[in-house]
Amino acid sequence: MNAECRLCQSQEELRNSHVLPEFLYESLYDEKHRFKAIHMDGSESPSSRLEQKGYRERLLCQKCETKLSRLEGYASKNYFVAPDRVNLGMAGLERPYGFEYRGLEYETMKLFQLSLLWRISVATIKPFSGVSVGQEHEERLRNILLTENAPAVEAYPCFISEDPAIPRGELWGSPLTHTESSNGTQIVTIFVDNQFWQFEVAERANTSGPGASIAKTWLAPDGIIMGYWRNLKETPFYEQLAQEQSQWSDEFKAKLGLP
Ligand SMILES: [Zn+2]
Repeated sequence: MNAECRLCQSQEELRNSHVLPEFLYESLYDEKHRFKAIHMDGSESPSSRLEQKGYRERLLCQKCETKLSRLEGYASKNYFVAPDRVNLGMAGLERPYGFEYRGLEYETMKLFQLSLLWRISVATIKPFSGVSVGQEHEERLRNILLTENAPAVEAYPCFISEDPAIPRGELWGSPLTHTESSNGTQIVTIFVDNQFWQFEVAERANTSGPGASIAKTWLAPDGIIMGYWRNLKETPFYEQLAQEQSQWSDEFKAKLGLP
């Protein structure tokens, strides 16, 4: 059965695509390639309820899926798996305060970032159903991705932070998303592995004033992304986690510092 592809809008047979790229959750799959989504009792017991294959929805035709998977391939290789990344220190500080990714291809990485924002916005399945950037921004992002024309740094910029206490892939079952508003601008956060990706939903985000230091961290044409270390407890996710994951074992909760 054909339906409208959300990206190119032609009537095609749609692929049952992952809403977020599968590689982001790779470490959460078991050896039989089942997603350990609900397996959150802290045990490794195979009898735990497992969700097959993560979160999928029929959104894209084959051509568009191929287009986006090129971006995923790039990000997987150059950002997630083998990043050129260094810790950033500061005189007088004992520990590094952040980190820096270098040598990224601006156009491709920017398009990858925007593809995540667009995908969770158009997806209608849980846990993405509550996230929307609105029609106007969705359409703008769709055009950017369709024409593969990466916009300027300040267009839908993404601020990245990471909790060093959370090991990669160990914690997260279901993809978490969070939307809030800051000075009238919508902020959409995606929890990507152990990182918080916070998108400012604006065609032209403010690069001066109180947000100027954040603006310096965004992916820039020189191929650098900066990120800051951050405590999970200081994020909007903390409440959400404590509420949604009340079935976790005491041991597992203690690890996260949850009550
Ligand atoms: Zn398409």
